[in-house]
Amino acid sequence: MKEYEIIVGLETHIQLNTETKIFCACKADSWEAEPNTNVCPVCTGQPGVLPRINAEAVQKGALLAAAMHAEINPCSLFDRKHYFYPDLPKGFQITQLFEPIGKGGYLDLYMPDGEIKRVRINKMHLEEDAGKTKLEHGQRKVDLNRGGVPLVEMVTEPDLRSGEEAAQYLSQLRELLRWIGVSEADMERGHLRCDANVSIREKGSTVFNTKTEIKNVNSIDSVRQAITQEAKRQIELVESGGKVEQYTLDWDADTGKLSMMRSKEGEADYRYFREPDLQPVILSNEEIEAIKASLPELPYARRRRFVEEYQLSAYDAEVLTSERGLSDYFEEAVALYAKEPKTISNWMMNDMIRLMNDTGKSARDLVLKPAALVEIVKLIDDGKINAATGKSLLVKVEQTGKSPATIVEEEGLGLIADADSLRKQIETILAGAPNEVAAYRGGKETLMGWFVGQVMRATRGKADPKLTREILVELLKN
Ligand code: ZN
Ligand code: MN
Repeated sequence: MKEYEIIVGLETHIQLNTETKIFCACKADSWEAEPNTNVCPVCTGQPGVLPRINAEAVQKGALLAAAMHAEINPCSLFDRKHYFYPDLPKGFQITQLFEPIGKGGYLDLYMPDGEIKRVRINKMHLEEDAGKTKLEHGQRKVDLNRGGVPLVEMVTEPDLRSGEEAAQYLSQLRELLRWIGVSEADMERGHLRCDANVSIREKGSTVFNTKTEIKNVNSIDSVRQAITQEAKRQIELVESGGKVEQYTLDWDADTGKLSMMRSKEGEADYRYFREPDLQPVILSNEEIEAIKASLPELPYARRRRFVEEYQLSAYDAEVLTSERGLSDYFEEAVALYAKEPKTISNWMMNDMIRLMNDTGKSARDLVLKPAALVEIVKLIDDGKINAATGKSLLVKVEQTGKSPATIVEEEGLGLIADADSLRKQIETILAGAPNEVAAYRGGKETLMGWFVGQVMRATRGKADPKLTREILVELLKN
């Protein structure tokens, strides 16, 4: 068998998390609304109404373009894309074909083997979403709540080479969208939808063969599986003397199977022309520079910086930058206690992430703020409490909202660092263990550990370990 290369391009639709829809004042998020309750004459396509562009959608689209290193179009235009479908009552979708909001750009994928793979973006444009149809009791019903929700459609060049690379792209794009705050990117809610173009060619060849388009690959796993499966089908077809035809395939995530939908229509069928009811979207140089300047440090830049600046391991840096709020939390804590970034990182990697999982909260929503975490770490470093108490304090601060010091005070959790009272307790313990004392004094010095254990047990772990040892050594001497 010959060696083949898989060629993949992805087309994603990203739902922007704006307050209102792209051309009217209806709420953009209507996930929980009853069907057809979040609509108005504009988004249901009534005759005689005029669309009005949502400035927030333009801002967020342009910010995404900046994050993708794309050129932000200073004068983008809207076009009508005509097709007939029940979920699109006005008979055309308002989109951008000739002058999209962003041109070019790329996303650098950080692959698990440490390589960086650059995926070029062909274009990205703003458009309105259509409604939804669903089959209910044998009837096809239309819900227009989603009609007019702002989307960015983003198309890659055919730069991906496997289902795994496509899965990486989708997962890292999702992370980026959340990081810069333009989309919730919740794939189960359709905030990030994906279609995949797949073709194969002999290794070493540079031609592009006929591709098929897989629709509805709407999870990271689906992308990986559907592309792998389709490439295998094409290779087997070609190997057995067949020819790949231009088909649209539907991916069924429940059964893990692809099925043929229809042969694909060309672009000319949509009869694109300029949308006459909308003005061009003009962005001045100053506005474009302001958008670029508002872009936060991106996840991978921050990841590298965490390794270099704080000497974190690559793994710790990756976990701490998996979400922007978490990485902000870390830096805020480190700024308050610059001595020990590694200690802060350890606390976050273990106990804080557990606390977040247990409470279902993100770092930003925790009651336990960075200052409280730092206070706990300092209490341990200063020998005021032990590590186990520190762990329990995290949970108690989260539950009560009280400061760590207050809880230590109220519950008497502090270490016994008062030498006089500790000495009295130790004297009592030694008096109760004459055999061990004699054995120790007779040369069995390994018993020291046993004595420390006895003191810890008697004080329920609250004796200052260093002080305990000092007093024991002194009392056992004679
Ligand atoms: Zn509306
Ligand atoms: Mn589209």
